[in-house]
Amino acid sequence: MTAKLIKGTEIREQILEEITTEVAQIKAKHGVVPGLVTILVGANPASISYVTLKIQTAHRVGFHEVQDNQDATISEEDLLALIDKYNKDDSINGILVQLPLPKHVDEKKVLNAIDPDKDVDGFHPVNVGRLMIGGKEVKFPPCTPAGIQEMIVRAGVETKGAEVVVVGRSNIVGKPIANMMVQKGKGANSTVTIVHTGTKDLAAHCKRADILIVAAGVPGLVKPEWIKPGACVIDVGVNRVGETVSEKTGKKVAVLRGDVDFDAAKEIAGYITPVPGGVGPMTITMLMLNTLKSLKFKLGIA
Ligand code: NAD
Repeated sequence: MTAKLIKGTEIREQILEEITTEVAQIKAKHGVVPGLVTILVGANPASISYVTLKIQTAHRVGFHEVQDNQDATISEEDLLALIDKYNKDDSINGILVQLPLPKHVDEKKVLNAIDPDKDVDGFHPVNVGRLMIGGKEVKFPPCTPAGIQEMIVRAGVETKGAEVVVVGRSNIVGKPIANMMVQKGKGANSTVTIVHTGTKDLAAHCKRADILIVAAGVPGLVKPEWIKPGACVIDVGVNRVGETVSEKTGKKVAVLRGDVDFDAAKEIAGYITPVPGGVGPMTITMLMLNTLKSLKFKLGIA
């Protein structure tokens, strides 16, 4: 069997088109567009490239975008004051603080200062609680898990009653996606198991998964023989396993591998996500969707 590829790159294009259309409609009817501020502290090269991608995507879909770059020496007090300014700014619907922050700043304190109704990353404890309650309480599902669920839904995979096994229990992927898949409703209603480093027999759990979501950060952790024939395999792992020279640019680029042995797994699974080009492109896409939702909540049209 050769699995159907679930391509994040293609789904991203569809969703960004949908967002662009909706932004234009809201602008025509209500005279406003979603506003997103990206706060970058210091000049960490990886952070700069993430922020740049977020800014480019925000422009592409027609958002009002504010880039707020701060020196690495900014005090915690000044950073909190900055967050407060954007919390009160009516033109801003989403506030993003790019992590990591310099060591002298308490990251948790800064993230918790963001108004939960502008927390489009979905990491504020209030939004974590809303996600746990489920249904209409949910405002901003965290972006990577939201992307995973969207991929499963758009691929047409049945989730109701499905055995979902999630490998990994992080706060940004494993725990939230498990919580989302267990809720009653569209794209969920599954029976969910979370496995992790304390699990006795990882293989036995994976083998009974109709939907296997792997977010461990261990290249090739999931062996092909752990995959149930026809299962949907979502590989969240992004692991740098070496370097190569890009044919296009001639520059050195990282060789990326997922947590699943892709070449062998694709012959057994019914659906599978590639790495790269699978879950990766979904995260920023869902960030845009959350920012649009934030404005829609404010306008009472969500
Ligand atoms: P994490 O390190 O915070 O958590 C990994 C989890 O996997 C832990 O809960 C751990 O218990 C579990 N785990 C690790 N090794 C295991 C093993 N041998 N057996 C069983 N369980 C094991 O990682 P994270 O932040 O959740 O990220 C996981 C992977 O997903 C990483 O490769 C990361 O780069 C990737 N990721 C990708 C995206 C994206 O594509 N947009 C977003 C977030 C994370």
